[in-house]
Amino acid sequence: SETVERHEFGAEVGRLLDLVVHALYSDREIFLRELVANAADAMDRRRFEALTSAASALPPDAKVRIAPDKAARTLTVSDAGIGMSKEDLAQNLGTIARSGTRAFSQSLDAAKAEDRPSLIGQFGVGFYSAFMVADRVSVTSRRAGADEAWTWGSDGQGSYTLEASERPEPGTTIVLHLKADADEYLETYRLDHLVRKWADFITVPIAIVQDGKEESANQGTALWRKPKSEITPEQYEEFYRSVGMNFDKPWATLHWRAEGQLEFSALLFVPGMKPFQPIENERQSKVRLHVRRMFITDEAELLPTWLRFVQGVVDTEDLPLNVSREMLQSTPALARIRRAVTGRVLSELTTRAKDAEGFQGFWENFGPVLKEGIYEDHERRAEIAPVLRFRSSAVDSWTGLSDYVARMKDGQEAIYYLVSDDAEALKASPQLEGFRDRGLEVLLLSDHVDAFWPESLSRFEDKPLRSITQGGLDLSKFASEAGEAEGPEGIDALVAAIKAALADEVSDVRVTDRLVGSAVVLSAGTGGPDLQMQRLLRRAGR
Ligand code: ADP
Repeated sequence: SETVERHEFGAEVGRLLDLVVHALYSDREIFLRELVANAADAMDRRRFEALTSAASALPPDAKVRIAPDKAARTLTVSDAGIGMSKEDLAQNLGTIARSGTRAFSQSLDAAKAEDRPSLIGQFGVGFYSAFMVADRVSVTSRRAGADEAWTWGSDGQGSYTLEASERPEPGTTIVLHLKADADEYLETYRLDHLVRKWADFITVPIAIVQDGKEESANQGTALWRKPKSEITPEQYEEFYRSVGMNFDKPWATLHWRAEGQLEFSALLFVPGMKPFQPIENERQSKVRLHVRRMFITDEAELLPTWLRFVQGVVDTEDLPLNVSREMLQSTPALARIRRAVTGRVLSELTTRAKDAEGFQGFWENFGPVLKEGIYEDHERRAEIAPVLRFRSSAVDSWTGLSDYVARMKDGQEAIYYLVSDDAEALKASPQLEGFRDRGLEVLLLSDHVDAFWPESLSRFEDKPLRSITQGGLDLSKFASEAGEAEGPEGIDALVAAIKAALADEVSDVRVTDRLVGSAVVLSAGTGGPDLQMQRLLRRAGR
C-alpha cells in the first residue's frame, strides 16, 4: 500500500492562505478564473513543449473540463496540460515561489476593496484562491512525458499531503470539496456565467460537464481578429481585464491589422492604473504572441523594455505554428513585427501627448519607464524625446522639451536641468537662485532614471542639455533682477582662504553669479559627472 507523506507549508503560505480566504472573501468567485487560467496555460505549455521535446503532443480534443457533482458536493477542474511532477507539486503548491506574503499583504492593506482581486493575479497566488470556496482541495497530476502521477491534498490549514496516484493521461485534475456556503458553484448556469465573464477570450476550449454531457462554455473568440466595427467598448474592456488580470479601464486601446509585406493583428492596451507590483522591477514586455490564433508565448519581447507597461496580443500569419524559442530570437519576420508595433505605440503616445490633461495620468503612471528608452534605444531616442514631460521652475503644470525651447530667453543656448532624489527639495534648491533671478527656466528631475538619460539625449532641437550643478555655466550675459553686485571688498582673500581650508575636499572655489540669497553652493566640475551622478557613484561605492 502507498504511503502518504505529510509536509508543512512554507512559512509564508499559511499566512497567505489566511489573507486570501478572508480579505478577498467578497470576490471569491474569481477562484474559477484562476483555476481555468492555470489549466489553459498548462495546455498551451504542453503544446509548445511538444514542439521541441519528447513531451507527447496535446490531443486534438483537449479541453479544460469543469464538472460539478451535487451529490458529492465537489467541483472538479481538469486539464490535459503539461502536468506537475511530485517536485512541481511541492514547489508550486507548497511554497510561495515568487513575491512573498509581506509584499502581498502590504499591497492588500493599501488597496481599495475593488482593486483587491487583481492583486491575486499579480502576485501569483492564484491557486490558493481555491480555499475561498473549498475546505479541502486535492490535485492529481501527471507530468507530460512521465508515467507516474501524484496527488497533493490539503485543507489549507498548515500542511499538505503527497501520495502516489494514477492518471491515465498527462494533465491535472483539481477537486474542490466545497464549503457549506458555496453551493452556488454546483449550479451549471452559475459556472457557465463565470466562464463567459472571465474566460471567453481563452482560446483553449472549456466545457462544463453535467450528467456526462459536455457543454462548450467559452466561445474562444479571438477578439483581436474581428473588425473594429464589430466590437463594442465593453468587449474591449472585458478583454483587457482578462488579458492582464486587470480591473481598471485601459487608458489607451490600440487595435489594428497590418496587411501586405507583414501580416498581423494587434490589440494592445496601455493600463489606466499603475500595477501593484512596481513595473520598475519588471524587465520584459509580456505582450502575448499568437500564430493564427494559437497562443505561442508571452516571452517573445514584442515590445522594447521601455514600453513594458503595454499589454495585449499580437497574432501573425508570418510565423509557422511550430515556431521554436531559438527561432523566436532570430527570425526576421518577428523583428519586423516588433519594429512596426513599437512604432505604432509611439505614434499613439505622440498623438495623445498633445492633450496635456489627458496625458498627465499616463505620464504619472509610466513616464519614468518611457524615459529609459532615451538611453536604451538610440534608434527611437528622437521619437521619444518630444513625448517626455517634466516639472519645471517656470510653470506649475507638466511641460515638454519643445515648450521649454519655445520659452527660452534670447541668447540662452542650453536647456537647463537639475536632478535630485527629492522632488520637494528641488524646488527649494539654492542651485536655482541665480537662474530664477535671471528668468531662466530649469527642468526639475526627480525620477531615479533622471541621472542617466539627459546625457544620452545630449541635445534637443539642437540645444544641448546642461545640468546646472556642473561648473562652467556663465550667467553674466543675462540681466539679473537683483542687480549685478560687484564682489564685496576682500572677496578674493576670502576665496583664497576657503580654498586653502578645503584643499583636500574640493578642487576649486569660485565667485559665482548663480546665487542670490545663499552664500555658497556645491558645484560639479565642468566636464565630469553632475552632482546627482556623483551621489549615485558614491552610493555604489565608486
Ligand atoms: P501563478 O499561476 O500566478 O504562477 P498559481 O498559484 O496559480 O500562480 O500557480 C502556481 C504554479 O503552479 C503555476 O505557475 C504553475 O506552474 C503550477 N500550476 C498551477 N495549476 C496548474 C495546472 N493546472 N497544470 C500545471 N501546472 C499548474
